[in-house]
Amino acid sequence: MTVFYRGSGDAPSPDRPGRQESLRDHNLTLIYRQIAAAGARPVSRADIATSSGLTRATVSRIVEELVAGRLVAEVAPEQRSGARRPPTGLVLSREGPAGLGLEVRENYLACCIVDLTGTVRHLTIVPGDYAGQAPQEVLAGIAAMADAAIAGAREENMTVVGATLAVPGLVDGRRMIRLAPHLGWRDIDAGQLLADAITTANVPVTVDNEANLAALGEMYASEEHLTHFLYVSGDTTLGAGIVIDGHLMRGARGWSGELGHVSVDPEGAPCHCGARGCLEGYASLETLRRAMDLPASPELVSAIAAQADAGSPAMLAALDRAGVALGTVLAGLVNVFDFDTIILGGGYAVLASWLTDPVQRELDRRVLTAGWAPVEARPSLLGPDAAVIGAALTVVDEVRRYPPGWLAEGDDKRSRARRESAPQLL
Ligand SMILES: [Zn+2]
Repeated sequence: MTVFYRGSGDAPSPDRPGRQESLRDHNLTLIYRQIAAAGARPVSRADIATSSGLTRATVSRIVEELVAGRLVAEVAPEQRSGARRPPTGLVLSREGPAGLGLEVRENYLACCIVDLTGTVRHLTIVPGDYAGQAPQEVLAGIAAMADAAIAGAREENMTVVGATLAVPGLVDGRRMIRLAPHLGWRDIDAGQLLADAITTANVPVTVDNEANLAALGEMYASEEHLTHFLYVSGDTTLGAGIVIDGHLMRGARGWSGELGHVSVDPEGAPCHCGARGCLEGYASLETLRRAMDLPASPELVSAIAAQADAGSPAMLAALDRAGVALGTVLAGLVNVFDFDTIILGGGYAVLASWLTDPVQRELDRRVLTAGWAPVEARPSLLGPDAAVIGAALTVVDEVRRYPPGWLAEGDDKRSRARRESAPQLL
């Protein structure tokens, strides 16, 4: 799978207190972003000099650093007979730094590698029943998948520079899972456990909520200018990633997006969270499963889609009810936050043919401003893999936002590798 990755090259750099950005770092970032912004189209040194206002000598020196650091690759010009030889073009490197995305769900584990161009180079999904299993065992399983992916990336001259784990639950401080109800996990230091369990490389691990990562993945991969949207992840649980002004809104404690526990009916059925009438009880895949008495299975979403495809009136009615409940809650959020787009992701991406219409209908009916500026509900671009791809893209995005950081780290690693290998050379 290939994701054309627009990234956040034009977004402001994150605050880096204490970092005195040198002129060289500034120019290097500028040139790198110019090459990144051109996507697959090669850019010449002369083009960069013209548009940046830098001298040809400065551009050449910095490009040399970018090529040596495997951030940028040179592509041979097309040779046309009789024509003057065109200049060598520069594109983002498909070798060099890469991001590792991991995902733990109650019904599958996923692992992917994304290179600097945003291309998914590796994606494995292992279905299974992970609910209630010991976190150490599950994390050891996903670490083994990560080790295999890191080794495979090395063979293709990529260096995995970080890993992000997506989980369906509340994450504290980007490492501690406070609660993942459907996995049965509570207060698990997943960041540390995973970093210890990955043995092939010393990669920094961060942990985040799956809907947050999927929202970021959609933003990075979208060709539209998505800046105010809500990503809805519909599975056994319902989560949301909230993006405002191009930034993920995590909330005061980082726990925003618990869409499944917005109340639809204060007198409704009790929810496992302790409240009543939560949206999860109306619109989650688990609710659809129970309504149709389907067996619990890792392939639940396909089973639901198959019944709907076959025209089962009961399934179509259940999907419509779910869409109405979902659209009602989403309309309330649009009235508060003024999103222009609602992205249906996770399992909802697979069921979008049946959910989009009722959701759109409720948005059109209930959003105060819909008469002037309709809100669009649409399926996710990345489909059910959005969270694991988004997780890998967040690592890549770090490099793309501040390429001198990777070069400095690369230099460190290179000189360390030289030092370590020196005795063997004697
Ligand atoms: Zn609830």
